[in-house]
Amino acid sequence: MRAKIVAGNWKMNKTLEEGLSLASEVVNMVADEVSGDVKVVLCTPSIYLHAVSKLVSGKVSVGAQNAYEKESGAYTGEVSPAMLATVGVKYVILGHSERREYFHETNAQLATRTDLVLKQGQTPIFCCGETLAQREKGIHLDFVKQQLTESLFHLSNEQITKVVIAYEPIWAIGTGVTASNDQAQEMHALLRAHLASKYGQSIADSISILYGGSCKPDNAQGLFACKDIDGGLIGGASLKARDFVDVIKSF
Ligand code: PEP
Repeated sequence: MRAKIVAGNWKMNKTLEEGLSLASEVVNMVADEVSGDVKVVLCTPSIYLHAVSKLVSGKVSVGAQNAYEKESGAYTGEVSPAMLATVGVKYVILGHSERREYFHETNAQLATRTDLVLKQGQTPIFCCGETLAQREKGIHLDFVKQQLTESLFHLSNEQITKVVIAYEPIWAIGTGVTASNDQAQEMHALLRAHLASKYGQSIADSISILYGGSCKPDNAQGLFACKDIDGGLIGGASLKARDFVDVIKSF
């Protein structure tokens, strides 16, 4: 049985006051309305993590949107997984396409970050996904497989079971265009087969693979019903408690 997970990525949005009120609303609505086994993660801006971690409870945890690949030292402006652990962070998004594009994060850096996040006992939410140009050229499947190979395939059998993968086609992020259920399922099945080729089927079957890219209340149900889709990484729709909780209730 794979864990069902819905993670909200607030990106660089909300004041502290707005963030605390959004987090409280989500915690209360999840407690009142969400039954069954689903894990909910609020990936807030790092400056709010400490405060938000104090008000989450039940099914809801906090996650960071990034972490650096060093434990400590002269890296002005960066935050390490070890530091995130001290403020109650349980999940860390790694390799979001915005980080890859604007901050030039590489597969090799993400491999090291994954190691450090796992060392802290946190769950990496490892993002992968292709551009529209890559999909149009027909190289999307190989491109996404390579992202996994280069950042994750050095992990042991035990370590890989602690990783969550998020497939986020870049052309669907923040654009309002969602991958169709078939397009998403095709990629998720391919990623699971790729994991199976390295780690065996039963390990591959235990790894949660989330979909991200304009996922919202009116399309989440169809996506989450796909065999290899185990939840979502949600950007825009995580900024309103009602929308986010409706996505969570789409299982
Ligand atoms: C994201 O940034 O991870 C994301 C999926 O954004 P959106 O839902 O807004 O497309």
